[in-house]
Order: sequence, then structure tokens, then C-alpha cells
Amino acid sequence: MLYDLIIIGGGPAGITAGIYSARKKLNTLVIAKDFIGQIGKAWGVENYPGFEEISGFDLIQKFKNHLKKFEIEISEGEEAREIKKNGNVFEIITKQNKEYSAKAVIIASGRDPRPLEVKGEKEFMGRGLSYCVTCDGPLFSGKTVAVIGGGNAGFETAFELLQHCPKIYILEAGDKPKADEVNQEKAEQSGKIEVITNAAVTEIKGKTFVDSIVYQDKQTQELKTLKIEGVFVEIGSLPATSFVKGLVDFDEHEQIKIDPKTNETSTPGLFAAGDVTDSKYKQVIVACGEGAKAALSAYEYLQKN
Ligand SMILES: Cc1cc2nc3c(=O)[nH]c(=O)nc-3n(C[C@H](O)[C@H](O)[C@H](O)COP(=O)(O)OP(=O)(O)OC[C@H]3O[C@@H](n4cnc5c(N)ncnc54)[C@H](O)[C@@H]3O)c2cc1C
Repeated sequence: MLYDLIIIGGGPAGITAGIYSARKKLNTLVIAKDFIGQIGKAWGVENYPGFEEISGFDLIQKFKNHLKKFEIEISEGEEAREIKKNGNVFEIITKQNKEYSAKAVIIASGRDPRPLEVKGEKEFMGRGLSYCVTCDGPLFSGKTVAVIGGGNAGFETAFELLQHCPKIYILEAGDKPKADEVNQEKAEQSGKIEVITNAAVTEIKGKTFVDSIVYQDKQTQELKTLKIEGVFVEIGSLPATSFVKGLVDFDEHEQIKIDPKTNETSTPGLFAAGDVTDSKYKQVIVACGEGAKAALSAYEYLQKN
């Protein structure tokens, strides 16, 4: 079957693109690894109009339910592996070895967590090491854990762990946390969060599961071991673009370059929206706006072609 439009991604950008394309009656397929996205991992959202305060997970569930009200085909749990263009038709091959064709495509694959790239990281992934507190936090109930990364994401992860864990270390490689002052104060007031600065993690250790973390104290160069039973990595993110190499232009941060008016990439008929693009601000409302723009531009492209 040849779709009018395939949307890759189930975050705010992909879901909004889906809503707009459904309302334009485009024959659309949404391929989404999940319907959580980055915002589904946020503890609280206070800057999306209409919701004074809502958890990121609840907000994205509302988005998803809204999308599902429309007659639109969805493949959840499926991941795009490669996109090719043959003539005017795009072919998408997924990690599940399925192939789909479409006249236009919107890439809304957002960002993936940046890996630590230290010894033990791959070995203990899913065995005490996690990149998603919303997904895995409850598994660490009663345990002492470490969060790597002292930015807002690291602090928010620690706050979410407060309900489960008696003690939470935040390890920051710099000489002070980058998180907002208000988050640092909240951590101090919790009585359970301890921030360790100048800590460059060198290894995750354990037997079957994580039991300690090794870091170098950057002031004394001394290697120190922290006994913990879980690690959450929160050191930033990278655009999720591995499946689209060769077909679009990227900026110096590996983000997909788009025409800011239309969200079209360097390949006609191939659009991108949200955090995967070179648009300056990475926020839910921006991703939604871009998803809408990309879908309307794809509609116009399909009308012309
Ligand atoms: C901890 C944290 C807190 C935040 N707090 C806020 C906040 O309070 N307010 C705010 O406005 N913004 C916040 N943000 C930013 C916000 O989450 C992002 O700007 C927004 O989620 C971007 O949406 P997106 O749809 O572009 O990408 P994402 O949310 O990253 O969604 C990408 C989607 O694509 C899917 N995907 C990826 N690769 C593939 C593939 N190959 N095939 C199929 N599907 C794929 C993913 O599974 C996911 O569903 C926060 C971010 C984080 C990390």
C-alpha cells in the first residue's frame, strides 16, 4: 500500500502532525517506537497552555488519546531503520523488517539520551543502569542510587526518585551543578539528595547487577568508589537520525536542517519537525507547532505533486 504520508515518531511533534494530517484526510501511517517521547519522562510540565501543572506522562497520554480519536493508522512499538527515495516514492524499512511506502514523510524522531561511554555501561544497561526514571524508577524502591548529570534533567530525575529511594547521589563533572537555582534548593531541602561535584565517572561495576560506580575526583585526581544499587544517566541527548543518513542535510550538531517556513528538508517531500531539527528552541509547544507546520506543508506538497 502506498500511503500519502508516513510520520516517524510518537512524541509531541509526531502526534500533532498526525492530528493535522488526519483532519486533512491524508492516508497516513504513524510509526512510533513509543508514545512517550522525552516529555513523557518529565516530572512536571508547567508551561503548556491549558494545563497549569501536569506530569509529562499524563500530558503525552492526552496527546496520544487525542490522536487515536481520528481514523489514522498507527504502528506502535515499531522503529524506522532506513529511509530511501525511489523516484517520487519514499520507502521505509523498520527494525522489525517491515517495508512501507509513502509519497511524503515527516521525521519527528526527537532525541535519544546521550550515552556515558564508560566501562560497564553497555553491560549493566537494564541491570541497574537506566536512562528513564519514569519507566524504571519504581524498580529501585528502597535502594541507594546515583544520577549522573547535574543539569535540570538530572535534578528532576532525582526528585522523581525521592518517592522510591532513601538516598540519591547526583554526580556532576563540573565544579557546580548546571541545574536552575530553584532545583538546587529543592534538592538541598529534600534531605535525601547529595550532590557530588568534580566527579568524572569512569566505570560502572557490579556482578549480575550494578553495585558501585567509580569516579575520578577532578580536583585531587583520586579514584573514588560509591556503593549504589542503581544508576540513572542524564547527561543530555542526541538527535535520533541514524535512519536518515545520506538523505538530508545536517547542522554541526547532527540536527536535520529544515526550511523554517515549511519544515521541508533538503529532499523534496521529506519534512522534519520538533527536537530532531535545527530549530532553536526545544520545547513541547514548539515541537507541536512544528508538527502542525510539517503536516500542512506535506499536504500542500501532495496537492502540488
Ligand atoms: C527531562 C525533560 C524535561 C522536559 N521538560 C519540559 C517542560 O517542562 N516543558 C517543555 O515544553 N518541554 C520540556 N522538555 C522538552 C520536550 O520534552 C521536548 O522538546 C519534546 O518532547 C520534543 O518533542 P519531539 O516530538 O520533537 O521529540 P521526542 O519527544 O523526543 O519524541 C520522539 C518520538 O520519536 C520516537 N522515535 C525515535 N526514533 C524512532 C524511530 N527510528 N522510529 C520510530 N519512532 C522513533 C520516540 O520513541 C518518540 O516517540 C523536557 C525534556 C526532558 C528530557
